Amino acid sequence: RKFIFVTGGVMSGLGKGITAASTGRLLANAGFDVTAVKIDPYLNVDAGTMNPYQHGEVYVLKDGGEVDLDLGNYERFLGVDMTSDHNVTTGKTYQHVIEKERAGDYLGKTVQVIPHVTDDIKRRIREAAEGTDICLVEIGGTVGDIEGMPYLEALRQFAHEEDDEDILLTHVTLVPYSKNGEQKTKPTQHSVKELRSIGLQPDILVGRCDDELDPETKEKIALFCDVPTEAVFSNPDVEDVYHVPLTVEEEGLDEYVMERLDLTDEALPPAER
Ligand code: ADP
Repeated sequence: RKFIFVTGGVMSGLGKGITAASTGRLLANAGFDVTAVKIDPYLNVDAGTMNPYQHGEVYVLKDGGEVDLDLGNYERFLGVDMTSDHNVTTGKTYQHVIEKERAGDYLGKTVQVIPHVTDDIKRRIREAAEGTDICLVEIGGTVGDIEGMPYLEALRQFAHEEDDEDILLTHVTLVPYSKNGEQKTKPTQHSVKELRSIGLQPDILVGRCDDELDPETKEKIALFCDVPTEAVFSNPDVEDVYHVPLTVEEEGLDEYVMERLDLTDEALPPAER
């Protein structure tokens, strides 16, 4: 089984969810069974108690799970039904760990974020991925947030436990324009530095920008973030988010992901997708 983790840098609301869902759509077109897990690092157990003015509408799944509206994007883009197991929150994870502690299941051990909380996070991801070929795992928030740290540590351990060709990290970042119309890569460099400081090196970088990234911008990002230039993709603003799978397909994101995950031989030929 393959896992594609998606993190975000610079700021929230960047389009991590749409980028992940679009990647998933293209892999589903290539014949793979794709699912997704959305991680929300807040302490609420689920989105059911959250103010819709602040957080957007609550999305209700077929099992009655009240979740983040991003899950709606995944269901629509991937054409699959999900359950509340596909939305991991800090509230859910801690509630479970604390219940186990009260039941004495840890046999007197000191219960800690590492390894007890991180083990529970990894278990939830692996269970949600069962029976599929590829699982996308979107880590909500921005790299560097205190709340997100246990998830990034879980990801580091996950990458250590899985074979190299079974796991991929896509980092979505903002590429703003300066006043004189230049695409600026510094925010991207800083967010990748932040990832590296916790032992994570992205495999793919997706730049959200008003327009497509210039070839020089891609080269600069590749050099400073230590990825091949072919691993840097644009996700420009579009009028309708359902066009994003098409724009990233034109950039060859699906081909690159399949090559990197050693899936090219199993994929449907492009003409049949
Ligand atoms: P994140 O997961 O990073 O919080 P989302 O994927 O939920 O971000 O996207 C945030 C907002 O940006 C949504 O309203 C989404 O429709 C919009 N968006 C995402 N990608 C694009 C794009 N390429 N062009 C225009 N709007 C986009």
